[in-house]
Amino acid sequence: MTSSRRGFLQAAAVSAALSGLKAQTAREDLWGGPVLDLHFHMRREPEANVAHLDGCGVSNANLLTRSGAAEQVRAVQAKYPGRFVWFASADITQPDAGKLLTQAVRDGAGGFGEIKFHVEADGPELRRMYALAAELDVPILVHFQEVPHTPTEGVFSTGFKRFETILKAYPKTRFVGHADAFWANISADYSNDVAYPAGRIKRGGLTDRLLSDYPNLFGDLSANSGNNALSRDPEFTTGFLVRHRDKLIFGSDCACTDGNGGGISQANNPGASRLAGKCVARETLALLKKSTTPALFRQLTWQNSHKLLRIGA
Ligand SMILES: [Zn+2]
Ligand SMILES: [Zn+2]
Repeated sequence: MTSSRRGFLQAAAVSAALSGLKAQTAREDLWGGPVLDLHFHMRREPEANVAHLDGCGVSNANLLTRSGAAEQVRAVQAKYPGRFVWFASADITQPDAGKLLTQAVRDGAGGFGEIKFHVEADGPELRRMYALAAELDVPILVHFQEVPHTPTEGVFSTGFKRFETILKAYPKTRFVGHADAFWANISADYSNDVAYPAGRIKRGGLTDRLLSDYPNLFGDLSANSGNNALSRDPEFTTGFLVRHRDKLIFGSDCACTDGNGGGISQANNPGASRLAGKCVARETLALLKKSTTPALFRQLTWQNSHKLLRIGA
């Protein structure tokens, strides 16, 4: 038995003991072991969740839900034991958001997310959530976006370029960065002008530096934003994944129905058409596989999520 194989089996045993999450192989083992998708929006029918997972060879997922979804989550967990953990979100512009999220954590939610509202990243609504996440000792997954995808969409958690102040102010909060502005700022030349910048990455970008300097910041590799960032400059990507090997976590945020790109995979987002008809989970896992060693691939797709969620590994 290789040491990585042994480590994985030990990790799996720990996680199963602590959380009921089992390292099981998906129906088809495409990735040489179990994979946890950190960014998986819960689908209404329990079977639809598993249809996506099995279709792209992903064994486990973190369901992103609304705060009142505990019953629904329990039904999915009961039907598919060991495959799902969950995060909860609530409308943070409303005064009861803190109460709802606290209840969700009491009901078993392992974190806050996805938090995606039309507020500033350093505004009062999100500051309350950052503080509460630290108090409850759970991670908070935030969608950062400065450029609307459609005329009516708006922007979310704006002002990422000022985010260092927040990382300093809330050292006990475990932040998980996600979406367009988080990933566009991987390059030092980003100026909030387009959703998904293309071309070579200018070294010294804000996201790269914050991941290096702040132990309380993690990166969610999901969506077109994450996939695009890792596809722009292969030479950069290899080093970036090694540099932040303890901080980056695989997620898909894929909307396809079957794990093969079926349905409307990019939610009619014109800027993300490069992945239209494709499954983001498959695309990003293939990209990670190509850009890493097997040990690092395992860390990004399995071990790091367990560490973030404090369920072993
Ligand atoms: Zn998002
Ligand atoms: Zn998919």
